Amino acid sequence: MSNLASDYTRITYPNGLYDYLVRKANAAVSEIFIDISFPIIQINFLNARRKGSPKTVDWLFEELSTRIVRVTRKYRIDIGQLAHRRDIMVEFAMDKTSQKINLTGYHLLPLKSFGNMLSIVVWSYIVFITGKKPSDDEESQRLHKKFLDSFEDYKDYWNHMPRKKKPIYDEKACYICGEPAFALNIWTYKTKDKDLEIATPVCKKHKDRLI
Ligand SMILES: [Zn+2]
Repeated sequence: MSNLASDYTRITYPNGLYDYLVRKANAAVSEIFIDISFPIIQINFLNARRKGSPKTVDWLFEELSTRIVRVTRKYRIDIGQLAHRRDIMVEFAMDKTSQKINLTGYHLLPLKSFGNMLSIVVWSYIVFITGKKPSDDEESQRLHKKFLDSFEDYKDYWNHMPRKKKPIYDEKACYICGEPAFALNIWTYKTKDKDLEIATPVCKKHKDRLI
């Protein structure tokens, strides 16, 4: 019997696709406040950089924790049954000079969700360093828009890549909207060493999308 079905049981994306978006998030504020190394992302809020409310970091922590639960349900992400969600985890740490949020298991999130999450992270960081919300301040808005524009370009770029369609054998959610998927879009991410095959589950409405 073909083992095709189980090949894509656990769908993940290559690090490079996440690294790129993190670089764009850092570039938007011209600081390296997010460190990424597989499978952990650390968001660093240096106390010395803070102009806004100290509650901003708490807010982000709560927001990310809530989102992770929502996203894993929405996209039916296959997280460790016995590990009690250990595969995707948000943690908070604090010392004299900084507050940090660690997100473990980001590679299990669909890239669209990941980008949306980074948008919230960048938004919070802007509020943290300027004390001004992007909706209330032109300069803050410009910084946030830099990330949003990069994310739109990124989706546009990858969604134009060639792909093959394969039938789906188990229940998956469309990685664009969360509705039941009917096929897998198989596309290629090239690295220096090898080509990685990626599978994005899609519904009929999003049949042409990869991200
Ligand atoms: Zn869809």
